[in-house]
Amino acid sequence: MKRFLKELGIEDINPGGSYGIDRWVGSGDTVTSINPSDGEPIAKVQLVTTEEYEKIVDASVRAFKAWRLEPAPKRGEIVREIGLKLRERKEGLGRLITLEMGKILEEGKGEVQEAIDMSDFACGLSRQLYGLTMASERPNHRMYEQWHPLGPIGIITSFNFPMAVWGWNALVSLVCGDTPVWKPSTKVPLCAIAIQKACNEVLCEHGWEEGVSCLVCGTGREVGDLMTKDARLPLISATGSVAMGRKVSVSVAERLGRSILELGGNNALIVSEKADLDVLMPALVFGAIGTAGQRCTTIRRVIVHEEIKEILISRLIKAYSSLRIGDPMDKETVMGPLVDPQAVANMQGAVQTALEQGGTLLHGGRRISGNFVEPAIIEMPGNVPIVCTETFAPILYVIPYDDFDEALALHNDVPQGLSSGIFSKDLEEVERFLSVEGSDCGIANVNISTSGAEIGGAFGGEKDTGGGREAGSDAWKAYMRRQTVTINWGRKAQLSQGIDFS
Ligand code: NAD
Repeated sequence: MKRFLKELGIEDINPGGSYGIDRWVGSGDTVTSINPSDGEPIAKVQLVTTEEYEKIVDASVRAFKAWRLEPAPKRGEIVREIGLKLRERKEGLGRLITLEMGKILEEGKGEVQEAIDMSDFACGLSRQLYGLTMASERPNHRMYEQWHPLGPIGIITSFNFPMAVWGWNALVSLVCGDTPVWKPSTKVPLCAIAIQKACNEVLCEHGWEEGVSCLVCGTGREVGDLMTKDARLPLISATGSVAMGRKVSVSVAERLGRSILELGGNNALIVSEKADLDVLMPALVFGAIGTAGQRCTTIRRVIVHEEIKEILISRLIKAYSSLRIGDPMDKETVMGPLVDPQAVANMQGAVQTALEQGGTLLHGGRRISGNFVEPAIIEMPGNVPIVCTETFAPILYVIPYDDFDEALALHNDVPQGLSSGIFSKDLEEVERFLSVEGSDCGIANVNISTSGAEIGGAFGGEKDTGGGREAGSDAWKAYMRRQTVTINWGRKAQLSQGIDFS
């Protein structure tokens, strides 16, 4: 066992459920967390059983009754301290992400920083859970809205951001007065255990020993299913594939629960002939191969004007040819492995299908060894079926266009709607891209990549991406219940709409 893992509280065998500092459970199936770089086991995690899940959610329900009464700024102070704990452990947590998920260390530490930034944001937010005051149509009446905590809430997360997505959801929900119950991906349970330990310590120091922040490691089919059907969890925030979102949304809707869905993307960059290629190239390369193409906001399609297609392709191939692919812990590496052999097989299948559907392989696409692959560049004739599918791997489709209307149509004509971008110095093109007939995505960027969102904005997308919003702006509202209040302080009963009932 590596020392930094010990320091994070990771053991050889770890219980996967927790509802407090000395309240760890896990007697279900054992999963082995595997290092995607060398296929070696890191440690084992014992998943929670149905009975243990029940016990944990019961604790969350009990804790909610007290946590909601704690003034929001006091909750914010505790969240700030969670952020301080993450700051102290940033190096180790970043290394754990790299070890377990495979993204390069720079990105691993960047992800921990994102969770830290969320704690700062959430702390500030704890004093800004504002409601509006409205003008009542009745004399001597006052009308306003207030925001109350919602309840224990379920958070289901994907493997590719094993700490940041927790931060977007859990830290905001905690200041909102909710008690989060977190089910991480079984591909990265150790990241979740390390985070839960940090939370437990801070909460315990403040006398919150049980149930405020809970962890339930388990599969989607078992624990995920229990959560989506559990009426004690009024909100399920689920991040993952479109296929998962289709199941989760139906299951939650059946009990009239609320869901925040953060699902797959198929992000495109329009590169106009008026783009500044020197600004474009680093953004394009990082956007396409960062996290080995396993970001929901990865650039998957580059829609490029015919006039500059050849120069763009030659610069891309040159850049791709010099990429250092290998050990993600090594400072010189820019691309680590895919998460597991299934991801490699999915990539190889997609490359093959793309070629069958009219594609021309321009670079890469081979498996190097283990879970390491060469990122692929494939020229495609348009939005054939494989281009409309999110393959969670570093495949960049290059699609040429002649006029801007065609570029916009290609851009929007896919089922997903997460992130988008345009590179152009032409004001009219940029404004059209941002206009109502332009990008149909939740995120629209100009002269920057589709990937690498800042936490201050609301993050999420439209269409098959699910419509949810998380992190900044007013995304917090989804984690609270809105109450419209009308007070008659006068001496007469009065109905609205002028109805006379006397
Ligand atoms: P996944 O759908 O396989 O799993 C995501 C989570 O859902 C896991 O915790 C899994 O156990 C759980 N799950 C699966 N089926 C379930 C069910 N029926 N009921 C309840 N829970 C269930 O996704 P993944 O491979 O871990 O992540 C990659 C996907 O996530 C990509 O599609 C990516 O675009 C997407 N993603 C989206 C965002 C976003 O913010 N929009 C962010 C990160 C990742």
